[in-house]
Amino acid sequence: RTRERDLLDRRDAAFATVQEHYYADPPRIERGWRHHLLSTDGRSYLDIVNNVTPLGHAHPRVEQAVSRQLRRLNTNSRFHYASVVEFTERLAALLPDPLDTVFLVNSGSEAVDLGLRLAIGASGRHDVVALSEAYHGWTYASDAVSTSLQDNPNALATRPSWVHTVDSPNSYRGRHRGPDAVRYAPEAVAVIDELAAAGRPAGAFIGETFYGNAGGVALPDGYLAEVYAAVRRHGGLAVADEVQVGYGRLGHWFWGFEQQRVVPDIVCVAKAMGNGHPLGAVITSKAVADRYRDQGYFFSSTGGSPVSSVVGLTVLDTLRDEDLQGNAVRVGGRLKSRLEALADRHGIIGAVHGSGLYLGLELVRDRAGLEPATEETAELCDRMLDLGVIVQPTGDHLNILKIKPPLCIDATAVDFFADMIDLALTQLGH
Ligand code: PMP
Repeated sequence: RTRERDLLDRRDAAFATVQEHYYADPPRIERGWRHHLLSTDGRSYLDIVNNVTPLGHAHPRVEQAVSRQLRRLNTNSRFHYASVVEFTERLAALLPDPLDTVFLVNSGSEAVDLGLRLAIGASGRHDVVALSEAYHGWTYASDAVSTSLQDNPNALATRPSWVHTVDSPNSYRGRHRGPDAVRYAPEAVAVIDELAAAGRPAGAFIGETFYGNAGGVALPDGYLAEVYAAVRRHGGLAVADEVQVGYGRLGHWFWGFEQQRVVPDIVCVAKAMGNGHPLGAVITSKAVADRYRDQGYFFSSTGGSPVSSVVGLTVLDTLRDEDLQGNAVRVGGRLKSRLEALADRHGIIGAVHGSGLYLGLELVRDRAGLEPATEETAELCDRMLDLGVIVQPTGDHLNILKIKPPLCIDATAVDFFADMIDLALTQLGH
């Protein structure tokens, strides 16, 4: 381990403290294959956390497509080439009317930043309403609407004045619990109405369409319909962050907004679409894009480059050919039932949230009071690493295991994961 320690020390010397690793002593990952990661000390890990590689690590189709394209051309996206046109058309075809206009960028943060700029430019309004417990990225605007306390306990106190936060509607935690959809959204709607009454109507409501960062918690039925209607009533736009949950991970729905039966005005996408290669997109309507044209400009040197476009096309082809969305339904459903069954044996399991291969295992100290089992969750993650599984926590209290493996994961691997959770919780006395 001496050589490893040395490398970690060199990393820490060159990086800021804010870039710390989740593990105190992280394995050094050398290779990946499907849903497995191999470390330099010869261990193999099951990758439960990596939602940027839906096809799995080192997929040969991606590798071949990238090398072929790199041998021919990779350059500034200002030139005219066919792959970007094909990819843009394929992407737009995945979205309902009137979302037909595509901007290609390099990451989720850039997609959200541009999505907010489009909304603000097109609406002519400057205020933005965001949900609590949100992570939307690191750029200036995407960071401003990131209200999650998990990485920054001062997140709410340090928001700029144009950001207005409403409590995320988490029915497990008793917020916005109610028998009908209309009663789920009152806080967000009230904030949106009050802003308009005060003469500063919101230009955008932004939120994940299925609450990934809060632990894979579905929004209550009808929630986004209510909130989108309110923001539109006052001339603002609905911005959907599909960076984590979109692209088939939820199983039954390709996009999170389908589960809510709404169509956003602006959709932000990244992560899965590049299978690890930096690629993001914003999709909106011609009308919104044209209104923005009067206000702003857009150009990205490498967004939708020849290599990125080929990667984007290859990922879409492979998702379809390997039926990975169908796999998310089947294997994700199997894993959810396995984890739910474990709740009978381990009192610390409060809930199993989520859908498809976006699941959240919430640990609580008592099922009545729902006190978050934060330290226990950290201990569980460390024990899981010893058992050969990489899984990490999310949510404002870091008490929910985020379960979002490559979509190619199979029944054997999810059974192993559930067995290891069972073993680790038993060993830890929960
Ligand atoms: N939105 C959501 C919901 C995310 O989870 C993330 C990344 N964790 C981002 C935006 C930012 O994406 P990126 O890291 O690619 O900039």
